[in-house]
Amino acid sequence: MQPIFRKTAIVGTGAMGRGIAQMAAQAGSAVLLHDVQPGAAQAALAALRSTWQTLVGKGKLDADVMSTYVERLCVAETVNDLASCDLVVEAIVERLDVKQRLFKELEGIVGPDCVLATNTSSLSVTSIAAALQRPGQLAGYHFFNPVPLMRVVEVIAGLKTDPSVCQRLTEFTRQFGHTPVSAQDTPGFIVNHAGRGYGTEALRVAGERVADFATIDRILKDQMGFRLGPFELMDLTALDVSHPVMESIYRQYFDEPRYRPSVITAQRLAGGVVGKKVGEGFYRYENGAAQVPADQAVPEVANMPPVWVSPKAARRAELYQLLKDLGASIETAAAPSSGALILVAPLGLDVTTLAAVERLDAARTVGIDMMLDDAATRRRVLATNPATRSDMRDAAHALFARDGKAVSVIRDSGGFVTQRVVATIVNIAADMCQQGVCTPADLDVAVTLGLGYPMGPLAMGDRIGPTNVLEILFNMQTVYGDPRYRPSPWLRRRGALGLSLTHLEH
Ligand code: NAD
Repeated sequence: MQPIFRKTAIVGTGAMGRGIAQMAAQAGSAVLLHDVQPGAAQAALAALRSTWQTLVGKGKLDADVMSTYVERLCVAETVNDLASCDLVVEAIVERLDVKQRLFKELEGIVGPDCVLATNTSSLSVTSIAAALQRPGQLAGYHFFNPVPLMRVVEVIAGLKTDPSVCQRLTEFTRQFGHTPVSAQDTPGFIVNHAGRGYGTEALRVAGERVADFATIDRILKDQMGFRLGPFELMDLTALDVSHPVMESIYRQYFDEPRYRPSVITAQRLAGGVVGKKVGEGFYRYENGAAQVPADQAVPEVANMPPVWVSPKAARRAELYQLLKDLGASIETAAAPSSGALILVAPLGLDVTTLAAVERLDAARTVGIDMMLDDAATRRRVLATNPATRSDMRDAAHALFARDGKAVSVIRDSGGFVTQRVVATIVNIAADMCQQGVCTPADLDVAVTLGLGYPMGPLAMGDRIGPTNVLEILFNMQTVYGDPRYRPSPWLRRRGALGLSLTHLEH
């Protein structure tokens, strides 16, 4: 098969450039490698040869095929050597003036049909193209690190990008076996925009001292199936990388409250406590292994009180069944007896509000997160309110741990942990659909491949039920009075009508 681009130049042959060069060569393109730093392009060529050699050694690549890949690569000493290319991908330093200068120079060297692509992750494609005579030839072409393993590429149209330029980049991406997704030129494009919910909301939960970092990580992994908790993830990415991204997207959206960063990361960054690479982040690391504090111990409870469940509890029938399965003594009268443990299961509201509104004895009231089907999770989460007695807290903890399932007890929070974080992720994704950043299908594909979430944000919203997500957000707005929780119109309309979040208007 003929490659869409016969001759590709890679300018900037660092971590990203060499990965992109590998893909282009594997798609059948001749590849010229250029870097300002003397010897850097040569080093990239050697590194690529060794990458392929490793694959040959593992039996994953034929030695003859490797030879054809290596023959396709060559070093270009100057940008003037790139004249005959039909694609130039730039992966140089992340600075608008330097990228503009490079493309302006290239425009005078390459032919008029040559496609110019920038791998920028945070700059506006439109503003890079604004320096050019032919802005229609430039598009964003955003890869993820490490390029060969992260099999999604965002193709970004600037305001003036010729649609055929994006189409050719999209087809070329398929030729090297990655999945192309199309994005409008907006801050963070798809993946870095959709990824705002997870860390920032978890930081707000931690900032309210609802639970410690390790407990929040455990809850999100065990309840929703995230591979890494938000604090483990931030430790891996390191705060010197992730905090500036949080600030940049927040500022680029003119201080939109949904993306507001946290003082926790700003403070830790200032103190150099940035993550695994320095041995200390949200966790301490010894010989590269995180020192994770032990999970909460299940208390011994001699006299288990009877349990009364609020009539307004979410998934009330399932909660009753669960209590039966756990051997609880269940009260069914209209009001709890004087010694009963009182259970509420709010969506978005906190335990305190429910105890007050339902006129329950707050000292005996404990909340349980019933947003998800209990059978589908590996952990139960209970929340106390400031008045909850320790014997009632311990009784609830021991009762829900009776079958051996993990239990976390957190302090009161509108929306527990998972409800808050998932509703925030879904809401941001819904708003991206509302803004037309990309199609709902591309959004879920990009996030699944680019962030490794167990499912796309819209599929997550559909699993919980858009109406439930909407209820959680409305109630969180009541508890916190914070505009960051206002539901996107996309979610509000689909939630109100009971439609799937991927439903498109005709
Ligand atoms: P890097 O520092 O590993 O490599 C950059 C290379 O560009 C260096 O070899 C440098 O010598 C060279 N260079 C700098 N200015 C140049 C110029 N004017 N002309 C030619 N070569 C020049 O950086 P990286 O991590 O590969 O990132 C490159 C680009 O990719 C940036 O725009 C970055 O934002 C973007 N990006 C990075 C990642 C990531 O995770 N690292 C992910 C997506 C996008």
